[in-house]
Amino acid sequence: MTQPQPRKVALITGSSRGLGRAMALKLAADGFDVAIHYGRNAAEAGKVADAARECGVRAEVFGADLTTPANAGKLVEDVIAQMGRLDVLVNNAGITRDGLTIRMKDEDWDAVIQTNLSSAFSACRAAIKHMVRARSGRIINIASVVGLTGNPGQANYVASKAGLIGLTKALAKEYGGRGITVNAVAPGFIESDMTAELSEEVKKGYLAGIPLGRLGQPQEVAALVAFLASDGAGYITGQTVGVDGGLNPH
Ligand code: NAP
Repeated sequence: MTQPQPRKVALITGSSRGLGRAMALKLAADGFDVAIHYGRNAAEAGKVADAARECGVRAEVFGADLTTPANAGKLVEDVIAQMGRLDVLVNNAGITRDGLTIRMKDEDWDAVIQTNLSSAFSACRAAIKHMVRARSGRIINIASVVGLTGNPGQANYVASKAGLIGLTKALAKEYGGRGITVNAVAPGFIESDMTAELSEEVKKGYLAGIPLGRLGQPQEVAALVAFLASDGAGYITGQTVGVDGGLNPH
């Protein structure tokens, strides 16, 4: 008689709301046990975990402030200690602190680079130590279309996302031989709290450049993340895949 396989565990940073929430729920629907991470919204994270459990999987909630990169490595270690393994790491937590460069404060630069890039590095390092021993693992870094195109008023954010894309390529080459795939996802303009902050005028300007003529939905990004986490994506690594309605920056 064959033994049932233990469920795989996925950690999704920033899954208390927005894109991360949709990713966590999709991965739970696909049969992963999920580690739900939040920065400030513990109650929202708890609701996401409750919704995930309705899929019949295990869901645990973890809090960590990722403005301090060392907390990201510790988060990964805590997840492994509590859930027993880590098969998929999705570095999704991210912030913006927009402003023209000549007026951008050092603290706005540092907060964005630390949260979006240095914390992802710290999480990757801790996860890879574990995945190397398991000789398998999936890392998915949530970048942005602007990491490929640039965007005025977002030098810090663009640099963090371009950095994530570079980190993805380097890690894919470093750890491919150990059975670990590392890919980036580059969303375009997706409906979430982050894009809700944009004025109607700015939104209209963006819409004019999107061939599909609408903003994307978090579930449309989650579908790609779930595919990259699945067995079917086993031969894909070092890639940056857009979910951007055809903005087509390449
Ligand atoms: P969002 O709605 O603003 O949610 C951000 C998530 O990150 C929340 O779960 C938040 O947790 C967490 N987070 C933020 N700062 C944190 C910190 N210091 N420590 C720990 N957690 C922190 O953002 P989103 O639109 O879903 O974006 C998710 C990712 O996709 C980001 O990396 C973003 O850059 C990227 N992206 C988004 C779009 C878009 O159009 N929305 C486009 C391209 C790329 P708490 O609320 O619990 O603090």
